[in-house]
Amino acid sequence: MSNLLRLLRYLKPHWIHIGLVILAMIASAFLEVSPAILVRRIVDTALEAKNVTLATKLAFGFVAIAMGRAVINYTQWYFSELVGQKVTYEIRQSVHDHLQELPPSYFSSMGTGQVMSRLTSDVEAVQNFVGWGALLLTQMVITMVVVSAFLFRMNWRLTLATLLTFPLMFRMVFWFDRNVRPAWKSVRERMGKLTEDLQENISGIRVVKAFSREQYEVTKFRASNSAHYEANMERAVIESKAQPVLDFLSGISPIVVLGYGGHLVLGGQMTVGDVMAFHVLIWSLIWPTRMLGWLVNHAEQALAASPRLFELLDSEPSIKNVPDPIILDHVKGHIVFRNVSFAFPGDSKEALQDISLEILPGERVAIVGGTGSGKSTLVNLLPRFLDPTSGEITLDGVDLRNIDLKSLRSHMGVVLQDNFLFSATVGENIALGKADAPTEDVRKAAGLAQAMPFIEELPKGLETPVGERGVGLSGGQKQRIALARALLMNPEVLILDEATSSVDTETEYLIQEGLEEVMADRTCVLIAKRLSTIRGADKIVIMDQGRIVEIGTHQELLSQPGFYRNLFESQFAHEDVPRALSLELAEVRRLSENGQAERV
Ligand code: ADP
Repeated sequence: MSNLLRLLRYLKPHWIHIGLVILAMIASAFLEVSPAILVRRIVDTALEAKNVTLATKLAFGFVAIAMGRAVINYTQWYFSELVGQKVTYEIRQSVHDHLQELPPSYFSSMGTGQVMSRLTSDVEAVQNFVGWGALLLTQMVITMVVVSAFLFRMNWRLTLATLLTFPLMFRMVFWFDRNVRPAWKSVRERMGKLTEDLQENISGIRVVKAFSREQYEVTKFRASNSAHYEANMERAVIESKAQPVLDFLSGISPIVVLGYGGHLVLGGQMTVGDVMAFHVLIWSLIWPTRMLGWLVNHAEQALAASPRLFELLDSEPSIKNVPDPIILDHVKGHIVFRNVSFAFPGDSKEALQDISLEILPGERVAIVGGTGSGKSTLVNLLPRFLDPTSGEITLDGVDLRNIDLKSLRSHMGVVLQDNFLFSATVGENIALGKADAPTEDVRKAAGLAQAMPFIEELPKGLETPVGERGVGLSGGQKQRIALARALLMNPEVLILDEATSSVDTETEYLIQEGLEEVMADRTCVLIAKRLSTIRGADKIVIMDQGRIVEIGTHQELLSQPGFYRNLFESQFAHEDVPRALSLELAEVRRLSENGQAERV
């Protein structure tokens, strides 16, 4: 019930249009009974008196009624449609806008397919009911009230007799209602699963091909498709049982009108015209009752879909602004982690444990560690894609949670490993955070990210469409666009999550050159794998299993045995390092040999 009321709340702002529609419905209901009045007069008065002129005049009355109906129907349909479309627009927009508020973790836990299904089929089900179902239901009720009042006035006995089957019809409708609701719910859930499978299959098509998983995917999809088919068939069985019974029940009333009505005519209690009028009007009661079954069906679909929709609308963004958040105009870039721990929801193991780290303004910090050591999680805390489970992080002395989210993110340029390009031009993709940036600035940012050489080779340069419907770009090219995107924002804090991992060594070297310039007076947090990036950092933070195990400069960390030195020896020795580094390596070997000698 509360869901129904909440759905109807969407109609509230449109009360003027709804008022107009209801007025048109009332007028329409009265016009519904007028043909019956005319039939009665033609039969009882004109034909009885053999008055052809009167019969012709009355026949013209039908034309007038038809014209009146045309005008009223226009008003009713136009405004119903207007309300319906507006409500649809508002529901879809509010769901979509709410999605923008939710943190990335929501989507990974919910599944893109489920979210998409909520945005399409659930919104459609709700909109069908709120948009026009509810208004049609009102029309049915108005018509039934007006028509039955008229019939009761003509002859209450015949009216009661014809209405005898109606309770049965209502009962059938409610049986239908009770059974069809769970059936529709199951259809919707399985549709969500189907969309999810399809979405995963398309997004992961390369992996599917690479591992020859086509047959597995076909079987998996077949299972979901069969489940959806079965749910739909269960629903269809219920519907096909209900419809013929309703057809049979609706056929009884006209027979009663003719049988019992004929009896009353012979008894002199009714005229032939009365019975004919009855026969015309009884259908004006039968079809709303039948429609009622259909509308109940739509209301059921809306009610089945609404909890899922409301669940989404009610999901409070776990990361949101505090009341009166602090808006930072300018940021120095002083970041402090104080005893920060973080565990993913539902995960007992902490991905980050007791992290304490100070990053000074303008400092360049490289985060180094094995896969799963918590590097990405750590940097995801900075723009508040995640919030710490305990401890605090401050930017220029202010707890991140007290800073306005938009303001915080506008000071941070983030380049992730997985960079998404929207279906737009290269230029628009770069100017994502600053749509009004002059082309000159876009070019400059693209230049720093070493993206200009390949952009200039594209058919239309910066104007070339990319993304799903545009030209395909390599991973390295995407990465450079993402880097340009971040640089254009001119952020005081730059976060690069292996931002140059997909480019070749030479391009990386060129990007590094460009970055030297842009990183000069900014705080930079880099997750880096390549030695060339790591060794230039002011501070290297070594992570292992969610903890910081070493902090220091390249030299400091090399001069002592530990994680960094092991890493340096085991991995970077094989990297294509310049001669100077080879000498350095020899120095390290010497140091470590000495170390061993000392220990011996
Ligand atoms: P790194 O970037 O160093 O490879 P991550 O920060 O991505 O490591 O991951 C740290 C730990 O958190 C890993 O144990 C990983 O399995 C876990 N983890 C990462 N993302 C999620 C997630 N969305 N939900 C649950 N656990 C996650």
